[in-house]
Amino acid sequence: MQKKIAVLGSTGSIGTQTLDIIAAAPERYRASVLAAGSRVDDLIAQAIRHRPDLAIIAREDLYPQLRDALMPLGIATATGPDALRQAAAADNVDTVVTATVGYSGLEPTIAAIAAGKDIALANKETMVVAGSYINRLLASSRTRIYPVDSEHSAIYQCLKGEDPAKVRRLIITASGGPFRTWSKGAIARATATDALRHPNWSMGAKITIDSATMLNKAFEIIEARWLFDMQPDKISAIVHPQSIIHSMVEFTDGAIKAQLGVPDMRLPIAYALGESVRYEGVSDFCDLLEVGTLTFEQPDEERFPCFGLAKYCLNRGGNTACVVNAANEIAVAAFLNGRITFNDIYTIITSAIERVDFIANPDYNDFVQTNAIARRVASEIVESIN
Ligand code: NAD
Ligand code: MG
Repeated sequence: MQKKIAVLGSTGSIGTQTLDIIAAAPERYRASVLAAGSRVDDLIAQAIRHRPDLAIIAREDLYPQLRDALMPLGIATATGPDALRQAAAADNVDTVVTATVGYSGLEPTIAAIAAGKDIALANKETMVVAGSYINRLLASSRTRIYPVDSEHSAIYQCLKGEDPAKVRRLIITASGGPFRTWSKGAIARATATDALRHPNWSMGAKITIDSATMLNKAFEIIEARWLFDMQPDKISAIVHPQSIIHSMVEFTDGAIKAQLGVPDMRLPIAYALGESVRYEGVSDFCDLLEVGTLTFEQPDEERFPCFGLAKYCLNRGGNTACVVNAANEIAVAAFLNGRITFNDIYTIITSAIERVDFIANPDYNDFVQTNAIARRVASEIVESIN
């Protein structure tokens, strides 16, 4: 039976790769919903090719263009704040791929869980912002979450068939990003162009900047904490510049299991869509002789202070990670626009933590509030820097 898939963030890096996998296996998958933020021309082209039931554009001013292009084809169109949420819960959807950026992933994820849809989770920010809350929702839902983030897919694969009680720790690998070998002084002067030059992965701009600050790795530690219900002291990260080992699990008998492969997101995406079935022809094979050497380094919190925010967020709990995520979204956008320096990103995040009220047991409305307040506070700090 064809699985009907809603691709939220279809014009992005994960979204387009997801559509490639869907197009290559029409006997298994159909894209029933496509949703994008602002690239309306790309979205129209995707809809003409994939013939979804529904296409959504977040930016309301672009809606008429979408509607006029797709109406003659009988493809429904939508926009507005409720559209993603409705799409995630629609009847003609079995699995939701959450591949939008940042906080925008939270609402549709909650809607998908309420409707019992399976989720291929790319949007890690959802678990960062509200992981413990999401887990409570999952406890009374038939939704299954399949990780798309390569590290979490690797851990998921390593945990298969294992007794969770025998896990000593998760070892998340990190490429180290473009500034791995840069001095503190050079990092302070880094431009957006420098930071966008990721050594191993081609991804959207926001996650590429997060990789450069290593906040992405902090986020992945938090994501792992909730996805695998693992205590924070059992989650570590190690820099592995070759990005061949995608992550590892160490067991109590001393064994370490690792998942290796070329850096190619199509593998974890296909593994998530296929619900852990391994299909052929998904990614290139990995020639270990060509790779030759696998090396490991300690992450450097001195040069990459954002990395240390994982521990801080998990210890403090509550709405802390929601503040960090919101402030980071504002700071990254300002950095990409050339308005602040690279190190300002960390300063803005930590100032926002100080200035936004702590809430120990946030409910949904608290996340909405915290996100809005932290964004406003971070924007004010950006203004004051300028
Ligand atoms: P991207 O910037 O390339 O694409 C983002 C997509 O989301 C675009 O289609 C954009 O139009 C859409 N979008 C943004 N805001 C929206 C909104 N409000 N409503 C509807 N659509 C919206 O980003 P990406 O690199 O594909 O990353 C997507 C998510 O996947 C992020 O959470 C990221 O952390 C995660 N992720 C990405 C990679 C990767 O290799 N790119 C790896 C692991 C995890
Ligand atoms: Mg990752």
